[in-house]
Amino acid sequence: MTVKVEKVDLRQKLRIDAEKLVASLWPEENSAQPSEIMLHELLVHKIELEMQNDELRRANITLEQVRDLYLDLYEFAPVGYVSVRYDGLISAINLTGSTLLGIERKRLRKQRFSKFVTANDQDRWHRLFLHMKTANKGYKQTFTIGLRQANGKEFCAQINCSPSLLLDASPVLHFTITDISNCKQIENELRIAAAAFETQEGILVSDPNYVILRVNRAFTKMTGFSAEEAIGKTPRILRSGRHPPEFYKTMRETVIAEGEWQGEIYNRRKNGEIYPIWLTITAIYDDDGQIIHYVATQSDISQQKAANEQIEQLVFYDPLTNLANRRLLKDRLNLALSASTRNKRYGALLFIDLDHFKTLNDTLGHNTGDLLLKQVALRLKDCVRECDTVARMGGDEFVVMLEDIDKNQQHSAIHAETVGKKILAALNAPYHLGDHEYRCTSSIGITLFYDHKTNQDELFKHADIAMYQAKHNGRNTLCFFDQTMQTALIERTALERDLHLALSGNQLILYYQMQNTHDGQVVGAEVLIRWLHPEFGLVPPNKFIPLAEDTGLILGIGKWVLETACAQLKLWATQDLTKDISIAINVSARQFHEEDFVDNIIRAVEKFDINPSLLKLELTESLVLINIEETISKMNALRDKGIRFAMDDFGTGYSSLTYLTRLPLDQLKIDRSFVNNIGVNAADGVIVQTIIAMTETLSIEVIAEGVETEDQRAFLEQQGCGLCQGYLFSKPVPLADFEALLQGNLKLG
Ligand code: C2E
Ligand code: MG
Ligand code: MG
Repeated sequence: MTVKVEKVDLRQKLRIDAEKLVASLWPEENSAQPSEIMLHELLVHKIELEMQNDELRRANITLEQVRDLYLDLYEFAPVGYVSVRYDGLISAINLTGSTLLGIERKRLRKQRFSKFVTANDQDRWHRLFLHMKTANKGYKQTFTIGLRQANGKEFCAQINCSPSLLLDASPVLHFTITDISNCKQIENELRIAAAAFETQEGILVSDPNYVILRVNRAFTKMTGFSAEEAIGKTPRILRSGRHPPEFYKTMRETVIAEGEWQGEIYNRRKNGEIYPIWLTITAIYDDDGQIIHYVATQSDISQQKAANEQIEQLVFYDPLTNLANRRLLKDRLNLALSASTRNKRYGALLFIDLDHFKTLNDTLGHNTGDLLLKQVALRLKDCVRECDTVARMGGDEFVVMLEDIDKNQQHSAIHAETVGKKILAALNAPYHLGDHEYRCTSSIGITLFYDHKTNQDELFKHADIAMYQAKHNGRNTLCFFDQTMQTALIERTALERDLHLALSGNQLILYYQMQNTHDGQVVGAEVLIRWLHPEFGLVPPNKFIPLAEDTGLILGIGKWVLETACAQLKLWATQDLTKDISIAINVSARQFHEEDFVDNIIRAVEKFDINPSLLKLELTESLVLINIEETISKMNALRDKGIRFAMDDFGTGYSSLTYLTRLPLDQLKIDRSFVNNIGVNAADGVIVQTIIAMTETLSIEVIAEGVETEDQRAFLEQQGCGLCQGYLFSKPVPLADFEALLQGNLKLG
């Protein structure tokens, strides 16, 4: 609305009025004599008029000031004012309004307001507009709508609208327009914050005294505490008891000092269950830098932890036995070496290898082998303290690491030996592997360690060498590492390298050792293998048979021994002197448990067309015990063909009457260790007597090995052992020598 003020020159008007008045009172002819009174009144009138004129002028000025104020208010009000006629055209708009619509005012006149409404809100706008047009004067409505500036930029506007009439009584709608985009943004942000608060992570908001103010749903789900139960309490309700008070103290101090604390802690759920979480506590400050809230977010990491543990289990533990693996053992040895350097105490490494494990695996299958390894693992753990490490290096190799034993080397060695013996005994006890009862011995190599003098790899090597030495010493025993062993190992390695050539290079020879009656009558021979090594000379079987077993070369060697013996029997069969002499061959476990062992023997017997009863197979107790049922069936199959069996080294293994009666044996060979002690150790004498008595009961032949003295021979004869083998009669000798002996024997006879 504009106010029009007519500016009139009052002074000019008064002067004209006065002249008109004088002219009317005094015509032209009387003008030379005006009355004094009239003049006076005119003057008074003039003064009055002038006073009125002043008032008017002042009023006029005030009016102008008010108008300017009004204009300022109107134009620059923080909201836009727009008047829209009922035909939708803009009839008036203030400057703020045109700024909001982003267009010059003069270009707005007669434009449709709806042109500035966003496309999305067009329909709504038209409905609202229609509604407003039907409303009575004085009605007011507030709504928000999207407006679009001339340059296309959109904003959210709050509109207050009321219908009114213009001066000419035409209807109009007055709008105020407020840009509320900022408010909308804040509102949206609040909405986002509210949504973010309800995440998978448990969130707790507390005041500066840690009194809980708010918790989210995930918090309730995770802890079991509802919002009502938690609010007003402190996070103490979640304490697991796994962390000392100092832990929480440090946590609080860190949040105050650094504004944040993060870490893994254990909490307790309402139901008492303890669970690991990853916790982040953040301090919220006011403008003055004072802490006003703490926000604690916690994510349940039980599953992640379980997964990590599983990974660790895979990386550091042997999946079959759950024992530490090589990697973990190395880690622990490293720590143990450091600890030993600090506290000057010895530790020990014990390398444990199961004897003949390969044969078990080959004959009863890997599943049975695995069963044995698991039971061995449990037994080993039972033999050591909690702080000692038991590891599986792979296959049938185990390591026990004893830490922090003693400051004294000798005491430490004694302790390690005691543990080693305990392990030997524990592993010797029978195993139940499915349907099979199994017995197994082991060999242990021990090396002591002390500070970092010897490095890890060397220590492992030393323990390994000692273990091989234990095997070499007859298995089922333990051995400490010393330097001479290392030399022996080097030799062994060389032998292993060359053994491949022994067979093809014709370096193997059979020696014959006679088996005879007390009066020197030769009834048979045991063939004993020798290796004529091009560099080391004659190598005894104890040095290379175990190697041949480990490498599998024993199969070829065994076949060669068998065929050489059969060929010899064939030759002997043609001469009177030798036709009744039997040959005993030694059969290794690996060879016996080969699937085609029975066939191989029968084939050889047939190939050389020999009398099968002159071929005797020597088996050991440990061999037959690996799988007693298989052994019995194989022995029976061969026995049916007339082949005979002797039990070698009898008395050194797990002699048990139960199995002995089930085996189709023809002969027991009393081990030379007992024979050796005849007259020396009374107990061994008794054992010899017992074995002889047993063979009588079982109606099988008995022979004594290693008969070296006349006293031994006499004792054996007296006890009823009819056959002997030993240096007293002859050492094992090459064939030619043996045959010469037979000639002599014949001559003697
Ligand atoms: P074994 O079958 O118990 O053989 C008897 C061992 O005692 C032989 O040692 C023999 O030389 C030795 N001996 C015989 N009489 C006496 C004596 O009066 N005093 C002493 N101190 N020793 C005596 P050798 O020949 O060194 O054989 C050792 C072992 O090697 C044999 O023990 C046998 O288990 C194995 N072996 C030998 N030849 C073969 C073979 O062809 N195949 C297989 N698999 N093993 C064999
Ligand atoms: Mg033998
Ligand atoms: Mg023997």
